Amino acid sequence: MSWTLIKPMRAGFQTAVALIYPPRCLGCGAQVESDFGLCGACWRDTPFIGGTVCDSCGIPLEGARDGHRVECDDCMQTPRPWRQGRAALLYADRARQLVLALKHGDRPDIARPAGVWLARAARPMLERETLIAPVPLHWTRLLRRRYNQAALLARALAAQTGAALCPDLLIRHRRTPMLDHASAGDRLTILAGAVSAHPRRRRRMAGRPVLLVDDVMTSGATLAACAAACHAGGAASVDVVVLARVAKDD
Ligand SMILES: [Zn+2]
Ligand SMILES: [Zn+2]
Repeated sequence: MSWTLIKPMRAGFQTAVALIYPPRCLGCGAQVESDFGLCGACWRDTPFIGGTVCDSCGIPLEGARDGHRVECDDCMQTPRPWRQGRAALLYADRARQLVLALKHGDRPDIARPAGVWLARAARPMLERETLIAPVPLHWTRLLRRRYNQAALLARALAAQTGAALCPDLLIRHRRTPMLDHASAGDRLTILAGAVSAHPRRRRRMAGRPVLLVDDVMTSGATLAACAAACHAGGAASVDVVVLARVAKDD
């Protein structure tokens, strides 16, 4: 069978699927016009980040850019071990719900539209040679959750931008406790040495810019451990992009 035949068949199949399963809003399940989107109400409830942001962690900042690098107070006080960081959403309202659904709610379908949002946030950091890699999950956690949400996001971002993807660039050796309630200092201690570059992927990363992808950035300790592993593995530079950034005073 030739490809010219398969294409119209697939288009017909998709139309049939749309008739049986009309596209639903990712947030509330209401019927929407196109696939993989949000209805108007959920869109308004989703805090997309735009305008001036901290170049290191992606948090929104007051004022206009003047062409120079800008950083929030936290990042100026404690420099991040990466070059630039961006976030697509603020971790609040509908965005928080989407992130939690992707992580714990068995909703891998959220990754695809999230890839579009991530691509928009990551665009200023992408270079021709950029290698995209997810923050790794320990295998025991992977078994329980069935998928690594960061890996799904990394794949969606790579598909959206055409950048190279290395899903197993980094590996997590130890199962680290849940970090949600640990202090920033404790997180660093817990995570030191917990992540390293996959021995068989080092060559792929050597001399290249790496873009790390995760679902949420809170203190940034996990991303810092991953960035350190990339630097140790020979990456030329490390940037980070997350789906949602937790605002500091929450
Ligand atoms: Zn909705
Ligand atoms: Zn910052």
